[in-house]
Amino acid sequence: MALIVQKYGGSSVADTESIKRVAKRVVETEKKGNKVAVVVSAMGDTTDDLIDQALSIDSNPPEREMDMLMTAGERISMSLLAVAIHAEGSRAHSFTGQQAGFFTDARYGAAHIKAVRPDRVKNALSLGDIAIVAGFQGINAKGDATTLGRGGSDTSAVALAVALGADICEIYTDVDGIFTADPRIVPSARRIPSIDYESILEMASCGSKVLALRCVEYAQRFNMPLHVRSSFSRRPGTLVVPDGIDPRTLPNLD
Ligand code: ASP
Ligand code: MG
Repeated sequence: MALIVQKYGGSSVADTESIKRVAKRVVETEKKGNKVAVVVSAMGDTTDDLIDQALSIDSNPPEREMDMLMTAGERISMSLLAVAIHAEGSRAHSFTGQQAGFFTDARYGAAHIKAVRPDRVKNALSLGDIAIVAGFQGINAKGDATTLGRGGSDTSAVALAVALGADICEIYTDVDGIFTADPRIVPSARRIPSIDYESILEMASCGSKVLALRCVEYAQRFNMPLHVRSSFSRRPGTLVVPDGIDPRTLPNLD
């Protein structure tokens, strides 16, 4: 049995139909005999919409309130996904960043993770539940909500995977992994089947469109294998693995 962290980005949970599709995939992974913790981003353009709403009221809103506002996006998707997993007949329990034990520094809008103590997530998994965690958020020492910077759910997923001692962190997006160039612009671009952390960081311009760089650095620091793949297809994606690990030994590659 493997312990798998799956992260679904905003385009994978853009509407309730997409959330139902993701719920099926999560349950399928669980039914194969794995323990699954899921990290979600906000639905579609929710984060941008929330920011626009605040800016339409005040061009210089208080940063504490902006973080309170932005963390709401991921709370919507985490609870809707839990509802969808229940509808599929499995048990799921959703957690905010605070409930999942994400402690950060005080930099609103660009907070750094200081520690992850996911006791409640571990407990849910040990009871046989699927745990769903709101990405992109934590709390500071005052107990106020903080956000990790745009695209921060990737980092949440890797940090959770490290704290849980997961076997792999799967990053689900809308492309089949990392390509030699942007496949939406360069049709001859090839998918990279497997790559090491250093090389991804070097190809920042193509890699970073798909993966937040901070998440790759975090994964590298703790040797957490990543599988970047599409939630819209069944095709294999890109494995990002430490040197010396045979990618074929990783779980849930089909
Ligand atoms: N929802 C946040 C954003 O749009 C975090 C994320 O998607 O990773 O930046
Ligand atoms: Mg997003």
